[in-house]
Amino acid sequence: MRFLIESYGCQLNMAESDAIEMMLIGRGWDKTEEPDKADAVIINTCSVRKTAENRIWGRLGFWSAEKKKHKLILIVTGCMAERMQEELKKEAPYIDAVIGTNEKAEIPDFIIGEPLEHLDGYRFLSSYYREGDYSSYVPIMNGCNNFCSYCIVPYVRGREISRPVEEILKEICFLEQKGVKEITLLGQNVNSYSAEYNGEHVDFPRLLELILPYLRNIMFVRFESPHPKDFSDHLISVIADNDRISKHIHLPVQSGSTRILQLMNRKTTREKTLALIRKMKERIPHLTFSTDVMTGFPTESEEEYEETLSLMEEMGCTEAFMYYFNPREGTRAASMDGQIEESVKIKRLERLIDEQIKRQAVIKEAMLPFTALAIVTGKSRDDEDRYLARGEHNDYFSFSSSISHNPGDAVIIDAEELKGNTFRGKERV
Ligand code: SF4
Repeated sequence: MRFLIESYGCQLNMAESDAIEMMLIGRGWDKTEEPDKADAVIINTCSVRKTAENRIWGRLGFWSAEKKKHKLILIVTGCMAERMQEELKKEAPYIDAVIGTNEKAEIPDFIIGEPLEHLDGYRFLSSYYREGDYSSYVPIMNGCNNFCSYCIVPYVRGREISRPVEEILKEICFLEQKGVKEITLLGQNVNSYSAEYNGEHVDFPRLLELILPYLRNIMFVRFESPHPKDFSDHLISVIADNDRISKHIHLPVQSGSTRILQLMNRKTTREKTLALIRKMKERIPHLTFSTDVMTGFPTESEEEYEETLSLMEEMGCTEAFMYYFNPREGTRAASMDGQIEESVKIKRLERLIDEQIKRQAVIKEAMLPFTALAIVTGKSRDDEDRYLARGEHNDYFSFSSSISHNPGDAVIIDAEELKGNTFRGKERV
């Protein structure tokens, strides 16, 4: 029997797809990428943007046609399944089961004919590892309590729930046995982690401290996404003082204007964000940043947009996920007065992207020459004598070596030049 999983959206969705895949493989199923060979198809959906939902409706049309050609079980899960359960059942009756976020762990049972049980709360899966991978997600939280006014996550994933420390440590030991080299701790608001362990209250920096003694092969510990308002001094110290924690921090700023941040309900200000960035740069050696930032939030003026540009300039990210505000039905921002015309939002975004591309090239050029620890990701397609690798700062390398390598190998690279977004160099042996 073969299964096929289509995944959309955030890293947590991808991690959950990996976990479902492993559960099915554990039950003797084989994975396929070929639609006509699949006996069961799982579509793990996303609701964050309307465009994502539209795309999934399109894919459902495809799978409906496929179902007419051969027998298969079609399951829709994830945030869209949670948000539009009734609509999906009505508009796409050929779907065999619409399974909400909380019940994803039941998918393997459903496929073999077991009845579905509705669960009131989210349950973490036992492992999110994908066989053979040297990099793994480790979900530590689900849901969000923040209700940023543009975001649908708290409505579809529910309130924050933290995975027990014991389960996280157990998974890390398992990943160590599997030879994993990097992990990414995941949560919608990862630095509001909160749990009890051995009679102690454990927050996010304390969780990092508890994880560290278990690391042997794991070289880089990353985490996504922290909220600037919850970035404590303790967290900064733990990152600064421990080599295994990546010094590349994804810090979503969203806007550089205090008034817009308040409208977004980000519970922070331009001044606080800048003070945090300065403190982190002072305290954490060799720190690099990435961020999420948007243009054209309702009522954003040209001056407020300029404040975003100047914050980005001071922050100095080596990568950024930039987008324009896209109203999400069901959120407060979608019905706010002062929606900005699409052409203006796009124009602002284009300049933001243009400046960022130039800035990141300047930052990266200034780093040269340098030596970096990196993980081999494969062979170069353009030059079969070179390998590709990814470093601690999420930077990409193309390097020559006198040694043969496999993906997942740890290498030390002397980076000599920058070509596009990739550092070129050679392995230090
Ligand atoms: S912190 Fe804000 S943007 Fe992030 S998931 Fe929560 S509500 Fe959405």
